[in-house]
Amino acid sequence: QFPFGRRLPCDIYWHGVSFHDNDIFSGQVNKFPGMTEMVRKITLSRAVRTMQDLFPLEYNFYPRSWILPEEFPLFVDEVRMMKDSDPSWKPTFIVKPDGGCQGDGIYLIKDPSDIRLTGSIQSRPAVVQEYICKPLLVDKLKFDIRLYVLLKSLEPLEIYIAKDGLSRFCTEPYQEPTLKNLHQVFMHLTNYSLNIHSGNFIHSDSVNTGSKRTFSSILCRLSSRGADVKKLWSDIISLVIKTIIALTPELKVYYQSDIPSGKPGPTCFQILGFDILLMKNLKPMLLEVNANPSMRIEHEQELSPGVFENVPSPVDEEVKVAVIRDTLRLVDPQKKKRKD
Ligand code: ADP
Repeated sequence: QFPFGRRLPCDIYWHGVSFHDNDIFSGQVNKFPGMTEMVRKITLSRAVRTMQDLFPLEYNFYPRSWILPEEFPLFVDEVRMMKDSDPSWKPTFIVKPDGGCQGDGIYLIKDPSDIRLTGSIQSRPAVVQEYICKPLLVDKLKFDIRLYVLLKSLEPLEIYIAKDGLSRFCTEPYQEPTLKNLHQVFMHLTNYSLNIHSGNFIHSDSVNTGSKRTFSSILCRLSSRGADVKKLWSDIISLVIKTIIALTPELKVYYQSDIPSGKPGPTCFQILGFDILLMKNLKPMLLEVNANPSMRIEHEQELSPGVFENVPSPVDEEVKVAVIRDTLRLVDPQKKKRKD
């Protein structure tokens, strides 16, 4: 750790938040310039939309989205048109503030006019998105998947996907959205940071129980129910690759401007957190990409009212230690030297 700055050059630089050190002339940095900006909700939606316009079938893993406030009229028009052509369509939408995280400021609506009522769109840009009403449930609960992806290089494009990830569970049994239950965050939002405050949250002491489990334990369960787990993995891999392809053009622009070719500079790699929701029919849908996924392997436990202690979390440890270990192996400077 170099809390007051660094003097000697290093082989690997591990930055906590983003690429910010302009004094690096060699070695490898664990962040790409511009990644934080590129995975913000609005920028990601725009980048995926560009690809959806070009390749609608290939990019149907991202819910239809509109950017607020500027696309509000388009949102209203398109929803009206879709309702006119299919009167049985009773959609729900999810509004997510740009730059928000951990479920912060997110709410569900049934009709575009409900956005106006909150009066916040002028002050806070957001993405509004079709809500996936029929997610796959396990133990009657909605859950999402956090997968760790290593972008090892942009040119050539090298992507590694960790074989195990986390499944984060809601804490109230799921019901399809109705006006009555729209506000029930413990039913609709899978964020750990929200559900931890529910009385039903269960800290797992094994990888296949509780409110946070390994993804592999879910796959085992699905496979024992006869699901085609191989196909699911191959769909997830395509989703990851296509998402990164959508981000690549702008990432290259950032890269060129921060680390111009021909001048001494570092190379970059980055661990990304992909949040994915499985639909009832096992189709994976991309929710968001996190440029700085939490690598904590402990959680806080309240010993007595107001007294907290950090205790190890076996599920986080199982998944995240492997991610860091394999990342370091893959970017190992000695290996690179030997290869050269
Ligand atoms: P944040 O960065 O605040 O966590 P997300 O985009 O991950 O924002 O959304 C928070 C949660 O809301 C997700 O973990 C998921 O449970 C739920 N969610 C988000 N988008 C959708 C969607 N289109 N359909 C259904 N659920 C969604």
